[in-house]
Amino acid sequence: MRLAYTEKQKAFRAEVRAWMADHVPAAPLPSFDTEAGFAAHREWERTLNRNAFSAVTWPKHLGGRGLDLIEWLIFEEEYWAAGAPLRVNQNGVFLLAPTLMEYGTDEQKARFLPRMAAGDDIWAQGWSEPGAGSDMAAIRSKAVRDGDHYVINGQKTWSTRAVWADWLFGLFRTEPESQRHHGLTFVLLPLNLPGITIRPIQQLNGLPGFAEIFFDNVRVPVENRLGGEGEGWKICMATAGFERGLMLRSPARFQQTARQLVDLYRANRESADADPAIRDAVLKSWMDAEAYALATYRTASRLAKGGQIGAEASTNKIFWSELDLLMHETAMSILGARAELMAHAPDAGDIGHWLDGFLFAQAGPIYAGTNEIQRNIIAERMLGLPRA
Ligand SMILES: Cc1cc2nc3c(=O)[nH]c(=O)nc-3n(C[C@H](O)[C@H](O)[C@H](O)COP(=O)(O)OP(=O)(O)OC[C@H]3O[C@@H](n4cnc5c(N)ncnc54)[C@H](O)[C@@H]3O)c2cc1C
Repeated sequence: MRLAYTEKQKAFRAEVRAWMADHVPAAPLPSFDTEAGFAAHREWERTLNRNAFSAVTWPKHLGGRGLDLIEWLIFEEEYWAAGAPLRVNQNGVFLLAPTLMEYGTDEQKARFLPRMAAGDDIWAQGWSEPGAGSDMAAIRSKAVRDGDHYVINGQKTWSTRAVWADWLFGLFRTEPESQRHHGLTFVLLPLNLPGITIRPIQQLNGLPGFAEIFFDNVRVPVENRLGGEGEGWKICMATAGFERGLMLRSPARFQQTARQLVDLYRANRESADADPAIRDAVLKSWMDAEAYALATYRTASRLAKGGQIGAEASTNKIFWSELDLLMHETAMSILGARAELMAHAPDAGDIGHWLDGFLFAQAGPIYAGTNEIQRNIIAERMLGLPRA
């Protein structure tokens, strides 16, 4: 792995930096867990796409720039440093898209990817069910073959932003008598089909960021299947690997928070230094964010040489979620009573975002597979310990 950037990479960084300076909205967009915020973030996706910045690693004919993972990391560094909006289509661009590239037909790639890049289709993820969260092989929602259609019945839950999303990718049981991870199929479906009911669920911050989805004899053409019938588990595990391992949480996101934490500490040094543990936590946060970035560069170099993400996706997931918690808890300690100011409070100034970030950080050890489950995977697959 080379730790120096090439001239081409430097030029790309300069291009992204200049574009972001010209295009990132001056004021933060409203939360994408509201209807207006969702629409504003979709518009931002369209703006990104006009410069082929939605998904820089995709081939050009599908809406990307044909760049490599190192260039993607550079893009992300400039994106977060510029304070650009969160990506409302992250489920699609960072999770479904790499899965489609690997398992989709050419027809499916051409049909779904350019619309995803343009923000025309925003995707929700449909894995969890009331009895199938950590134990996803307990999925019961069914897709029964009827000629050239599947007929879907059942329920999904915790589907992020499905209230406003256009499409869902999910796992359904296609063999009625099958057990556990056998007989599951990966299906892509528009959320406006007859027989679909979407019920919002409030998050900790009161916004309807989640939804339950009910399926009542929903008919989906067989051509919307990703991969073969009954192969859903294998394909879904690839998606989960992208989610935990690399794409969903780029190091730049945490490096930016670490930089903001250092600034917060500097601005409040007098009170913060009353507790030496705060200075240690700031230092650890900054070093961990840098260490995560270096580790990701190493993974990207390995993938470029044909390697694959394995069980280390689980170590990454634990690392970034615990780092995010540490950074936000430290910010809360520095701010003291002011930590309770919400972003829209009259006196919040530029500190209100810390509470929002703190609330969201609580979810990090849960979504993308809980950290307890990741520790089981590490114990069994990396360390070879006996099954719990
Ligand atoms: C912010 C957020 C966004 C999400 N978005 C989506 C989404 O878009 N789509 C979607 O499908 N789902 C989504 N989820 C759901 C998420 O994937 C599940 O919450 C998660 O998989 C855990 O499942 P559960 O909630 O059913 O908890 P459970 O599986 O009931 O687990 C409860 C607790 O028991 C522990 N536990 C369970 N089994 C074991 C075991 N064998 N060993 C050790 N500990 C164990 C768990 O780690 C956890 O701490 C989201 C969740 C959050 C918080």
